[in-house]
Amino acid sequence: MARIVQKYGGTSVGSAQRIEHVAARIEKAVAHGNELVVVVSAMGKSTDVLVDLAKQMTESPSKREMDMLLSTGEQVTISLLAMALHKRGIEAISFTGWQAGIKTEESHGNARISDIQTDRMEAELGNGKVVIVAGFQGVTQSGEITTLGRGGSDTTAVALAAALKASRCEIYTDVTGVFTTDPRFVKQARKLHSISYDEMLEMANLGAGVLHPRAVEFAKNYEIPLMVASSMVDEPGTMIEEEVTMEQNLVVRGIAFENDVTKITVAGLPNKIDALSTLFSTLSKNQINVDIIIQNQSDDKHVDISFSITQSSLKETIAILEEAKSELEFSSIHYEEDLAKVSIIGSGMVSNPGVAANMFNVLAENDIFIKMVSTSEIKVSVVVKEEDMVLAVEMLHQAFQLAEEEAAVV
Ligand code: ADP
Ligand code: ASP
Ligand code: MG
Repeated sequence: MARIVQKYGGTSVGSAQRIEHVAARIEKAVAHGNELVVVVSAMGKSTDVLVDLAKQMTESPSKREMDMLLSTGEQVTISLLAMALHKRGIEAISFTGWQAGIKTEESHGNARISDIQTDRMEAELGNGKVVIVAGFQGVTQSGEITTLGRGGSDTTAVALAAALKASRCEIYTDVTGVFTTDPRFVKQARKLHSISYDEMLEMANLGAGVLHPRAVEFAKNYEIPLMVASSMVDEPGTMIEEEVTMEQNLVVRGIAFENDVTKITVAGLPNKIDALSTLFSTLSKNQINVDIIIQNQSDDKHVDISFSITQSSLKETIAILEEAKSELEFSSIHYEEDLAKVSIIGSGMVSNPGVAANMFNVLAENDIFIKMVSTSEIKVSVVVKEEDMVLAVEMLHQAFQLAEEEAAVV
């Protein structure tokens, strides 16, 4: 008997009919003698609907109340799924995050799981029940309901797999696995048989929404075999694991991208030893997340510093900088909106010089202007105009031969 954690995302539980379909899949897994913990997301786009409702109340809702609101979405699905299982004669019980013992740190909107007290789940599994847990939520030490950040149900699933010592974690979604890039945007995208934890972590951090980055982090740290597959089509998915044997040594394994990037330039900062540290301490104190940073010397006495942030933090960032103007002593702020970040990822890059040059060539040949660059051992990211994003991804996908099964093996 294997203990398995399965997770079904929003589209997979998007209607009564889909929930029935999930119940049928669970019935099958139970019939095979498995012990099952099932994590579910809110139905369809219902989290977005709740976010919109909050916006109708106020421009800046309290983070605590947002968590209170958004955590209701998952609670709808857990109870409906339990009912669907009961109808099939399967013993099942639903738990909210706090009932399941999922403790988080004291922060709203993007809380980290700090501990999972598994007693109640263990007891119900011991009673032969399927345990259904609401994804994306937990409770703090002081009893506050928290959420784990958009897409966080994946993290609930992997964290439960670690805490309950499950033999694997299966993420069921609306695509058949992890692809070389988002198959919704690039029709030549190819499903990967397997991908390493590190590569998947980069992909997820750089915008591949198929997995929540913290879910991959958990899987890596606790060595949980993680699978991504379709909840609708019966075909093998993608394994995320330590050793990738099938497609070893690919220079570039995938392309990730995200829009809503804004570039800010703080011009005419005094060229002092602590110019960078003062500027970025001011931003970090105010919880502004900065991504790529570029420094340019404008003359002997001054530097210009550019950095990228998400579009949604633009207003706040400008306000913070303006308020600190006398301390920072810059001359002006400029910004450029409607940008996107496109990243190529692959562990083979580390031993292959010229990958970045190749990327820049492809973009130049297609008249795509690069505004910022950042690299690590296993990725190169560029910031381009949002209108060029999909073309850039398509051209890079083609140039690095990602559609072809063997072509990219060195
Ligand atoms: P769920 O609701 O099941 O959690 P998500 O919408 O969060 O589903 O994640 C699945 C989506 O991720 C897919 O529909 C796809 O558009 C997107 N996606 C982005 N990058 C990739 C990728 N590299 N491979 C597969 N899907 C991807
Ligand atoms: N319902 C949440 C969201 O839409 C969490 C999740 O689906 O993973 O972001
Ligand atoms: Mg998701």
